[in-house]
Amino acid sequence: MDKIYLKEIILSYNDICNLLNDFCNNEKYENRLKKEITTSYTNFSYPLNSYLIGNGKKHVIIFSNTHGCEIITPLFVLEFILTLILNDDIYYYIDKKYTFHFIPLLNPEGYIISSSQVCYNLKKLDKNSIQEVSRMYLDAYNLDDKIAEKYIKKEKLYKNILRTSCNLIENKNMIFSINQILKNCDLNSNILPVWSANGLGIDPNSNSIHRFCEILTLRKKWKYSKLRYNDIPVTFPSPMSYPGKKPLDPLCPENIFLYKYITNLYFNLPKRNEKLIAIFSYHSTGGEIYGYPDVCISTKNNILIHNKAMDIYSKITGYTPIDEDLKYGVMDFYRAYLNDTVSLTIELSKLNGNPIGPLSNLDNLFKEFINNKIAILKVIELI
Ligand SMILES: [Zn+2]
Repeated sequence: MDKIYLKEIILSYNDICNLLNDFCNNEKYENRLKKEITTSYTNFSYPLNSYLIGNGKKHVIIFSNTHGCEIITPLFVLEFILTLILNDDIYYYIDKKYTFHFIPLLNPEGYIISSSQVCYNLKKLDKNSIQEVSRMYLDAYNLDDKIAEKYIKKEKLYKNILRTSCNLIENKNMIFSINQILKNCDLNSNILPVWSANGLGIDPNSNSIHRFCEILTLRKKWKYSKLRYNDIPVTFPSPMSYPGKKPLDPLCPENIFLYKYITNLYFNLPKRNEKLIAIFSYHSTGGEIYGYPDVCISTKNNILIHNKAMDIYSKITGYTPIDEDLKYGVMDFYRAYLNDTVSLTIELSKLNGNPIGPLSNLDNLFKEFINNKIAILKVIELI
């Protein structure tokens, strides 16, 4: 468990798909990783894929990359997958008890938009140079926050660190859509590295089932996103935080896929005496845990097991549990309504600055990855 199995950290969309495909149904690894057949696709026709490990009765969903620019989150999920496949001891331990369901890329379009810029700048660099560029990016980003705190709206320093272009994205239809969005938002390609939404400018996390009306009201009040993002509109399609027109908006197929996937397991597993015990959703950054269910809806026991899970996760990772005032976001629905299924949202990395800020100290990031791997196994063991 206390080892890192990932060989590379700057991964394109195709790199991730190829890596997973190499392990899938591969006899060398006893077919430990299985790819599920999907019928769900994004607006620009990317498949929404899920993968399985294990044959146990307790089911656990782990997904990442709800926000495109949070590129360290699929990296962590890949690392967790490799840890389970490449360790006989761990594999045999979990195989009988659990079935893991992985969705490493919930928002492939957002990932492609952000990571194409990152790959162009960092792919050929060695570890030290990656850290150096990322440190410059993080410093600029933090300075932008300080300036924005004084409600000053000026061109952001973080935008000068990476070279950017829409043409780095290999999908003509998606480039057309992105250009339209940038034009409407009065932004240019240097915003692409922090792109969180899908290719049509809907943010899958804001397109929440839970408290959707409150989100709309909140966005109307904000008009623009917060801090260093205070030049990004949030009331129409944009790079981040635009929630769409209604919950499970047809223009946000990522969320429809997730909803069907989770509810199918939650309602159908008990029919064969199995159970969905936990969902872990990975975001970045901040080193925080969101897991307090809405008390107006949740049962006492559901609140208790969430508290216990957050306690364990927080002790192992040093991450801070956050009890936010307005509970909205994709996971809040599942957290409140799926009784006795622990549903945690984890903000990976104590450092700031998506997409590459966390890469400024790789040793620390890997330590956090290791702690998060241990935390998942401990939580599911003890709930
Ligand atoms: Zn996020």
